Amino acid sequence: MPRQLFVTTALPYANGHFHIGHIMEYIQADIWVRFQRMQGHQVHFVGADDAHGAPIMIAAEKVGKTPQQFVADIAAGRKPYLDGFHISFDHWSSTDSPENHELAQSIYLALKAQGLIDVRPIEQFFDPDKGMFLADRFIKGECPKCGAKDQYGDSCEVCGAVYAPTELKHPYSALSGATPVLKTSDHHFFKLSDPRCFEFLQQWTQDGKLQPAVSKKIKEWFTKDENGEGGLGDWDISRDAPYFGIEIPDAPGKYFYVWLDAPIGYLASLKGYFAAGGPKARHGEARSFDEFMADPAVEQVHFIGKDITYFHTLFWPAMLKFSGRKLPNQVNVHGFMTVNNGEKMSKSRGTGLDPLKYLSIGMNPEWLRYYIAAKLNANVEDIDFNKDDFTARVNSDLVGKFVNIASRAAGFIAKRFAGQLTAAVGEEGRALLATLQAGRQGISALYEARELGKVLREIMLLADRVNEYVDANKPWELAKLEGQDARLQEVCTVCIEAFRLLSIYLKPVLPSVVAQVEAFLKVAPMSFADADRLLGAHTIGVYQHLMQRVDPKMLDALFEPPAPPAAEAPKAGGEKAAAPVPAEGDACGSGLPGGEAVAPTIAIDDFVKVDLRIARIVNAEHVEGSTKLLRLTLDVGEGCDPQGRPKTRNVFSGIKEAYQPEQLIGKLTVLVANLAPRKMKFGVSEGMVLAASHADEKANPGVYVLEPFPGAEPGMRIR
Ligand SMILES: [Zn+2]
Repeated sequence: MPRQLFVTTALPYANGHFHIGHIMEYIQADIWVRFQRMQGHQVHFVGADDAHGAPIMIAAEKVGKTPQQFVADIAAGRKPYLDGFHISFDHWSSTDSPENHELAQSIYLALKAQGLIDVRPIEQFFDPDKGMFLADRFIKGECPKCGAKDQYGDSCEVCGAVYAPTELKHPYSALSGATPVLKTSDHHFFKLSDPRCFEFLQQWTQDGKLQPAVSKKIKEWFTKDENGEGGLGDWDISRDAPYFGIEIPDAPGKYFYVWLDAPIGYLASLKGYFAAGGPKARHGEARSFDEFMADPAVEQVHFIGKDITYFHTLFWPAMLKFSGRKLPNQVNVHGFMTVNNGEKMSKSRGTGLDPLKYLSIGMNPEWLRYYIAAKLNANVEDIDFNKDDFTARVNSDLVGKFVNIASRAAGFIAKRFAGQLTAAVGEEGRALLATLQAGRQGISALYEARELGKVLREIMLLADRVNEYVDANKPWELAKLEGQDARLQEVCTVCIEAFRLLSIYLKPVLPSVVAQVEAFLKVAPMSFADADRLLGAHTIGVYQHLMQRVDPKMLDALFEPPAPPAAEAPKAGGEKAAAPVPAEGDACGSGLPGGEAVAPTIAIDDFVKVDLRIARIVNAEHVEGSTKLLRLTLDVGEGCDPQGRPKTRNVFSGIKEAYQPEQLIGKLTVLVANLAPRKMKFGVSEGMVLAASHADEKANPGVYVLEPFPGAEPGMRIR
């Protein structure tokens, strides 16, 4: 009987784009899901955006959008990441979906009926200007311990002290600057301290289904210390309006805390998938969502990061248990990903690994899938992305040991035998292929246990055996000898058969490469069961190169820090300079537009911080003593000064070598209008004019000031 699996990854918070940590988790889960599908099991693999909460409400307000629109815009940016790294979700939804509203309310009502909901008054800081209660992160003030200014409501970044927001000196709202007042409000609690919850969780978390390290950690959470602190406390699940979330039934103005409805989003996304007819179309599933979830044979499997273990191993199973629902069969916890020897990821220092930048500079997504798989095991360990290690594993193992097997044999089969393999394989070849086929069981067990590093080690050991066979039988020498055609065909057939078996085992990790292999071998999509038979006298197609090696220059580009703004480093060049000549390899080889990699992805709220305005250049003149600067007087439509004269801005721009002042006067251009004024040797510069140039100004001189299409007026914002 095929297994029925409902698999999820943690729901990403919809206030920004995916980072490498998300992609690592999706790759881990996707490999496991693809393996299960190749075993003939039925998998529903779903994800969703975690849409609710104060941070999204506030971020949306800042950019003048509704929270719904804000979340929709983030969701619209998900596809390039998911498609780019071959992540095979069946369905993607949002926790703001109607299914989630309905499920969250019904689960809450079931918990209430069980007597597990309590209402208590809580005293909390309230922003009188904004008319809202403030979460700790939106309260700032002076640290009660060291007096450092502008510290958050929960901890001090200067001395490390941890405190309650009410202990801050001179507290203020980070949203409005107003002094917050203490106000009492009723909060709803999920009574995790109830003996029923305690007893259930103690059993459920310690019965061996969770990873040993996770069970051990949870045991600490259960235990009270010598002061009676710790242990399972009740969980505050409500927030007061205004809040972007799901309303609590029969409690006007109260909303579920985002962490209550986020995991329910797993069920809601699956429900939405059923409603859209996906399971019926894909698996012939005749049952409804409710019928499916009521089947005890269905396995519910979550993949999560270690930082959200508490929510997924205590709150979540307790919510499910006491609302009468299916419990998770697996909660697979992974560690974090660090980059280049554990350096904490920081985009400004250029150590971050931006997934879209990875793709945009032409790096192969399956290199990363292979590398991440090689580093992962079933434990909760952090893994490190290391440039040299990455290059070595991809180039020596993946390309050197695996891809090369096909490239060494396929040409002879095509040219000398019209693509025809032979069924006449001798004892040595048969023994080798039998060894490879015998590897199936062990490799399957390792995939099942998420021991992906061990899976790849096993496969590479088998690849070593194949390469030893190739080196011992030397098809390239057989090809030169008279009367050795049958032997050459046999040796090359063994290579292709072996390559096919290795491809089956690697397919969960390398779905796109193995799809190309299937086309080249002229075989139907392969499952693990296909490893039990051989191709025999089968005709294959023409081999085309499957994968390039990693060029270390790509890794340099990947980790290159963002370029400094153009005007800070005035560029040489002139209008008479020839049109830029692409540097060698620039046109397509290096994939570096304008000589530099595209900067790490930013969210829309990062972009809107930069206020770009149309400006009219009312005057331009040389600056005495400067070989680089022109002084520009700009009208940005900012009205008049108290004397009735039009207000203008003084901006120094490093474009003297490119333009004569009279060329510029009267033209419109683009100004960064909210850049902090900068004191220079010749005066204060009140903004920055935008200009384009190549990163390598020596090889590609030229600076080009921007000019808008006709119709733009001074003061208009560029967005
Ligand atoms: Zn402090």
